[in-house]
Parts: sequence; structure tokens; C-alpha cells
Amino acid sequence: MPGKNLTRDEARERARIIAVDSYDVALDLTSGTRTFRSETVIRFTCAEPGAASFADLLAPEVREVRLNDRVLDPAVVFDGARIALEDLAAENVLRVVADCAYSHTGQGLHRFEDPADGSVYTYTHFEPADARRLYANFEQPDLKASFTFSVIAPEEWTVVSNAAESAREPVGPGVARWRFEPTKRISTYITALAAGDYHVVRDVYEDDGATIPLALLCRRSLAEHLDAERLFGQTKAGFAFYHRADRFALPYPFGKYDQVFVPEYNIGAMENPGCVTFRDEYVFRSKVTEASYEGRANTLLHEMAHMWFGDLVTMTWWDDLWLKESFADYMGTAAVAEATEYADSWVSFAVRRKAWAYRQDQLPTTHPIVADIRDLEDAMLNFDGITYAKGASVLKQLVSYVGKDAFYAGSRRYFAQHAYGNTGLHDLLSALEAESGRDLSTWSKAWLETTGMNRLVPEIAVDASGTVTAFAVRQEGEPLRPHRVAIGCYADDGSGVLVRTHRVEADIAGARTEIPELAGRARPALVLLNDDDLTYCKIAFDDVSADAVSARLSDVRDPLARALVWSAMWNLTRDAELPAREFVQLVLRHAARETRVAVVQMVLEQAESALDNYADPAWREEGRAILAAGALRELRAAAPGSDHQLAWARCFGRAAVSEADLRFLRGLLSGDETVDGLTVDKELTWLMTETLAVRGAADIGYIDATLAHDDTAAGRQHAAACRAAVDTVDNKAEAWRSVVESDDLPNAMVDAVIRGFTRTSDPAGLSPYTEPYFAALERVWNERSIEIARRIVVGLYPMWDNSPELLRRTDDWLADDRRAPALRRLVLERRDDAARALRARARDARA
Ligand SMILES: [Zn+2]
Repeated sequence: MPGKNLTRDEARERARIIAVDSYDVALDLTSGTRTFRSETVIRFTCAEPGAASFADLLAPEVREVRLNDRVLDPAVVFDGARIALEDLAAENVLRVVADCAYSHTGQGLHRFEDPADGSVYTYTHFEPADARRLYANFEQPDLKASFTFSVIAPEEWTVVSNAAESAREPVGPGVARWRFEPTKRISTYITALAAGDYHVVRDVYEDDGATIPLALLCRRSLAEHLDAERLFGQTKAGFAFYHRADRFALPYPFGKYDQVFVPEYNIGAMENPGCVTFRDEYVFRSKVTEASYEGRANTLLHEMAHMWFGDLVTMTWWDDLWLKESFADYMGTAAVAEATEYADSWVSFAVRRKAWAYRQDQLPTTHPIVADIRDLEDAMLNFDGITYAKGASVLKQLVSYVGKDAFYAGSRRYFAQHAYGNTGLHDLLSALEAESGRDLSTWSKAWLETTGMNRLVPEIAVDASGTVTAFAVRQEGEPLRPHRVAIGCYADDGSGVLVRTHRVEADIAGARTEIPELAGRARPALVLLNDDDLTYCKIAFDDVSADAVSARLSDVRDPLARALVWSAMWNLTRDAELPAREFVQLVLRHAARETRVAVVQMVLEQAESALDNYADPAWREEGRAILAAGALRELRAAAPGSDHQLAWARCFGRAAVSEADLRFLRGLLSGDETVDGLTVDKELTWLMTETLAVRGAADIGYIDATLAHDDTAAGRQHAAACRAAVDTVDNKAEAWRSVVESDDLPNAMVDAVIRGFTRTSDPAGLSPYTEPYFAALERVWNERSIEIARRIVVGLYPMWDNSPELLRRTDDWLADDRRAPALRRLVLERRDDAARALRARARDARA
């Protein structure tokens, strides 16, 4: 579609001549179930009267366009994505009336009917540029304005937006109009609306400087599971933390604070000021572990950090998306650690968030944290492990480099200077330089403007008496960077526990750095580079330490040190240095004694991924049986009702493979078998049913009977995954057709069907879909929304056929340089996953 993909150059030019005062947006959500009426009035100025520009709008029908006193013909000025504006005056009023479409892709105004009770829910999600699916606008972050929304909807609905409600009046039988206060000056991508049969709970936060009305919204069918007290508690703790004089010291600027849990959401959450949206899987309807509560608290506090960093001060263009995401990701974990009961949240950060960054940074498509974003398609794909997790890791290092006090003082200076404005990288750096007195240009170049990661390798010389005679750290990878690292030396304390006996903090620079402080001491059992996780790098172990890890990982007392070892071992597995089967054995040897359930869950997922991707296929089923047996043993041994028990139950539920395993699963589901303290609730039921379906032990009738006990939105998604997993030719064909050949399924269903389709006990059975995949790519990319297209391109890449032949086939496809760059990027990344898996399988086969 011409003009849909706004470029950076176009946005710059438009911002040069246009400034926006205000929007009045009037919506009628009673005009149909496929479309709704949208009327927009934009008041804006033009610095060059007589010039031409354009407004953005994605709508199936435009009824009226009026610019100042001129009525324009939509057939002439609207091309499906843009409204051409000629001969602008110094001061302008643009009025646009359109029928906009509800979406089922999670972009724009998503509409959802709850199968549990027929209730209707709508909500918006716009980042980076889908506000134009709700109202006509200038869709770029640096054209901020004040927005006044009004909404006509069924009178029994709940309707919320960024600002507080100012009035409500009846406009017809059973229909009312909500009016909202004008917002502060904000960007289009963070405007928001949620309207429907939402359940609401209210509270208020108060401190010396602020009174903030709070609300939580979710579907009625989830109301019984909404743990409002805990969520409000964390929300209040968050505001108290950010308001502190030694933190942001600036009261939350956007009035009330609603947190809305919405169905079929594409991402974790979105920081719309005053109206934050979250995926409603965060309203836990089955038992979850503390790791899930911690993860949700992290998301909650991440979004709250954005109120200042992202919403109050916003990047000028998407190149600096990292400015807000790295910052929010760092602050989210810092706030969880300091303001909630999850004091060791940096452990989860080390093992989970960093794994995301490390993976992304080794893809051929990696990019500097400060990215080059030419257009909106580039922007869409940049919500990735670099922008979030690597950015946050590097920011964490910056905090150690300039000091915490200077970091927060710099942030306060930055907010004061740029409130309600837009910024780039240099604005933040200059605020930090002013407060810290340090020149950050070298640091910025080394960390923000390069790609990839270094590996740090210990070089230890020991004499005959076991004394270290020389200690150095070798740095590998290009470019070499300055690293502030801690080096930990661990030894047995005499009671079977490995404790840190010595710690040295040092600046690593160049290819080799001597650490003289570590010479002259007894050789430690374990040397851990990057102890305390100060820098962003891969690490290697010397031979003695590698043996200690293998035999004694769970003897290490410090949870962060254990997490760093786990993270390193996973990197070695992915790099084909450690055979996948040895990683699985390491997990079975040590995960049962791991006290942090977040770490247990992560390494169990990694063990499963090691089997799926990195193990020699000839050993895979045997490996799975070993994992299942170990998981069942730990499930029975774990404390009844504990989080660890649930983690092992999930692992067993997914890994089960033998006849006996599958019979036991059926028994757990029917109630004929029990494990003391384990409740087979809805989510666990579906997890186990899916495995039975994959293994040919549950047919469509069994799945339908399970659905009859849980006919909810989540239940239907799980049932779709289970059906797609049933291994018959017709069934796989239907799953493929429903996702690739048809556009009927909403985003969440597409996810479910792809998951079931690709989860098979017979990968070769999917070979007939390899060529159709390549044949469909261009069409899918051009015809489907980017959210759906991305799921198909990534999720259905033919890993089932992984072989050198698949790499060649992919290269042939990539060789055509007319491919859309964003599509190419996704396929290239999957090719890299496939090539990495082949290297690891070869390594495992030699084990
Ligand atoms: Zn964010």
C-alpha cells in the first residue's frame, strides 16, 4: 500500500514544517461490529504557508475531509493510507470522518467476544504507528499534541482512556457518550482506549506530593482470579520508589493510573500514560510460581518507569527506541529489587533477560543499540533483545561506571530539561556527563554504536604446589571493549559448600589484561569471570573450573553466581562447545538443588530446547526419556504444593514420552493417579493434554471433551494447539490451511495453531510443507498484517527439515535481492538458528 510505510526522511520533513496543537477525536462504537465511526478534528500550524504535507489514516472508508474552508474529495486526496494536504495555511483545522475497522490482530482497535459469557471487549494498541487505525493523525512520535477523546458506547460498558472521564450523558436508548479531559501533550502511539464489559476495581495512591486514583480492569470472566490487593500494593510501591527524592523526584504527571488486562494481546504490556495495557495471561487463572509473580511485577514497574522515560520525554524517531526501552528495562528490574519482596531480581535478569540479548546479538542481523531505523517496517522488528535486554545490560554497566547517584541526578536533569518534548541519544548523555563529570563519548562508541559481544577467557598459571603464579584475562571478539568486571574465586568452606573466598574488581581492556592481585594465592576450585554480572559478555572456564561446574554447580552458595554459571553453560551449548546431552545431564544433576525457582524453570526450558534443537536426532528420544524420568523423580521428591514441584510437573508434562509416562499423564488427568500436593488445574491439564496429542495418546474426541470443561478463551486456544498437534495427514493439512491460506484466525489462535503444528513426534512427516513455506512467504508478507505475517514467517520456518539442504534452499530464496528487507531479516535469522542447531547436533553426535 503506498505511503503505509512512513520513512524517517518523510517524518523529519513533516516535523520541520508542522506543529500540532490539539486533536478532538469522537468515536462511535455502536455503529457495527466490523467498523466504527471516527471523527477527528486536528488543529495545527504550518511554518511555510502554501506548502503541502499529509495526514495518516488506515480506514476502509473515508466519508468526509475538510481542510479549513475547503471540502476535499476523499476519492482524490485519500490513497488508503494518507490524506494529501495541499496549500496549507499558517493555522489549520483538518476534519476527517471515516469508518475504521476493528482488528483481530492486536493492532489498532482490537475487538474480542468472550466465549465464556458473550461479553465484548475492545482495546487499542498502537506502537509504533497504529493510532491511524483509530483516527486521522500525524503518526510520528515528535509531533506531540493534546488529545480530547469522546466515545459513544453501550451504557453498561466501562470506557477508559488516557485522561480522566469528564462527563457522561445518554445519547439514545441504552447508549451513552463518555467525554474525557484533554491529555497533556503526548505522542500518538501512546494514546489509548479500552471499552467493553470490563470488571473494575479501584484504589488510590497518596504521598506528600501526589494523589493518584488507581484502577484495575479485566474481563468479567477473569474477575475471580484478579489479585487486586497484590497488584495495587506493587503499584503503590512503584510510585513511592520513583517519587523518591534520590530517584526521579518528580510526581507522576498524568493524573489517574489505570492498568487494563486485555485479551489476545501481542506483547507483555504497553505504557500508555494513565491507561497501561497488559496481556491478560497476567491474570493467573491457574497456579503459577513466584517467578511468574516476579516477572509480572517487573513488567508493571517497567511500564511505570515509562511514564517519565518514554511518555513525558519521548524519542524523536524510532532510532532511539532503546532510549526508553533500555531505561525502562533497567529500571523495572532495579525497582523490583529495591521496592518489592523480590530482592534478588537481578538473578532472573542474568539468566533470562540476558539470554535473550546474547541470542539476538549473535544473529547475522544484529544491530547497534543505537539503531538505524529507516522506516516503520524497520521499527516494527526492532522491539528485540538488543533494544531491551542488551540495552538494559549496558545501562547497568553505565550505572556502575558513573555511579548510581549521578545516574539518577542525570535522569532528573533530563526530565526537567525535556518534559513533554522529544530527544536523542546526546541529550541523555549530556545530562549524565553534566552530573557525573565524566566524558561518555568513548563509552558510548564502544557500547552503543557497535554490535556483538566479547568473550572473556581466564589464563591461569599454577606451580607444583598449587599456587597461582600468573593470572590474566584474554578478551576475544571484535571490537575489543573496555569492561569493568569482578572476578570471583570460589573454594569449599569445609562443609561441602562453595563460597567466594576472594573477589577482585578490574578494568579489562585490549586483548589481554594481567590481574596481578590474583597471583600468589592457592588455586581456587572455581574461577568465575564477570562475577556479580557487571558487564555484558560471554565467559569461558579453565579446565579445573569446568570440572567443578560439572560436579558441584549446586554447591555454589550465591544464587547470582549459580545463575551466571548456568547462563555460561547454556551459551557453550548453543556454541557447540558443550554437547547438548551434557547440558541435559547438568540440569538433571543440579537443578533439583537450585533454590531459585525462576532459575529452575529457565534451565528446564533450556534442557527441553537443547533436546529439540541441539541434540543429535539419533539420541533425541532417548534424551527425552532421560529428562522425563528425572523430572518425574523430582516431581515426586519435591515439597508437596511447592513452586519447585509445579516446575518439575510442567517439565515432566512436556517431556513425557514412554508408554508408562503417557499412561501416568492420563492417570493424573483422570484423577486415577495423584502426586501429593499437586493440583492438576486448567493450565496443567492443557499442558499435559498437548503432549498426549503429540504422542498419539489423545485424539480429537479427547481434546473436545477437555474443552467442554474449560470453554474459555484460553481453553479454546489450548484446544486449537492440541488439535494441530494430532499427527494425521488431514489434521496437519487443516492446521496449515487455517493459518497460511486463510486470514480468519485472530493473533492468539495463529500462535496456538503454529505451536501445535510444529510440535510433532515425527519431524519428517512435515517435509511436504517445506516448499509451500517458501512459496507462501512473499504473499503472506504482502497480504497479512505484520503481526500475523511475522508469526507465520518465524513460526513455520521448516526446522522439521533441518539439514544442509535446508540451508541451501534458504540461501536460494535469500539470493533474490528484491525481497522486502524486514521479511529478509526474519528468514535470515531463522537460517542462522538452523545453522547453529546443525553445528550443535554435530558436536553432540561426537560426544
Ligand atoms: Zn517498554
